Amino acid sequence: MSEIILLGTGCPAPSHERFGPSTLISSENLNFLIDAGSGVTQRLSECSILPSEIDFILITHLHSDHIVDLYQLFISGWHTGRDIPFKIYGPKGIKKYFETILEAYKQELNLRKDWEARPNMDGLTYEIFEIDTKSLIYINDIEITPIEVNHLPVEPAFGYKITINKTKTFVYSGDTSYSKNLEDASNNVDLLIHELYAGLTFHPERMSKETLENVKAYHSTPEQVGKLASKASVKKLILNHFVPPVFDEKVVLNKIQEFYKGEVTLGTDLLKIEL
Ligand SMILES: [Zn+2]
Repeated sequence: MSEIILLGTGCPAPSHERFGPSTLISSENLNFLIDAGSGVTQRLSECSILPSEIDFILITHLHSDHIVDLYQLFISGWHTGRDIPFKIYGPKGIKKYFETILEAYKQELNLRKDWEARPNMDGLTYEIFEIDTKSLIYINDIEITPIEVNHLPVEPAFGYKITINKTKTFVYSGDTSYSKNLEDASNNVDLLIHELYAGLTFHPERMSKETLENVKAYHSTPEQVGKLASKASVKKLILNHFVPPVFDEKVVLNKIQEFYKGEVTLGTDLLKIEL
């Protein structure tokens, strides 16, 4: 049996109920994450999973809320016994990002390595695979296909189509406005996990009119998600990555259900989905 746990369903705006974006996928012999948002290791701890038990991490795009805890995963994985390379798959630029973070922590890490004298030094090595939409990733019983989605001006930005054990398939949108590629990839899948723009309230002291328009423009509204899920005939729809993290859930749900008549759930942190 495989399961998906939404570890964090929030966005850059801090929320004690919705941590930064991260999702855990566990199949028979693999655990992996999609994105490494703020609080991911604390949420893993709530699931009784050690960071060292994560086999690899898939990154959707390089917005800070999706990658901010990569270094925390790297270090806490080593601390909890990882003795093999830390593995990341993600879009072009992820290698430079991670190595820049390592450089920033170089002195701290050298002091720590020498002082703590741990036996599993191989846990501080890493492998980073920069992928594109032609990359098909096969790891044990997992097949992963990157999907180019529409999160301009951030590019590349990926969603992922993931098949487990050749039987169950789900699509993960990443951050995107309406994406035809995503709609095509989602055709008839068992599950679509999609991001959602629930509507920001205007605050003149920290937003311009452009802020509202531009944030909305690179995410998906309830109407857009409902239409996409309906056209693609997905068997089940779960929403995550809510912008903002607090919103009127009833209004959002009703709007989606105007267009999509299947099973729909507004995700919450630690929601467990069996596949
Ligand atoms: Zn983003």
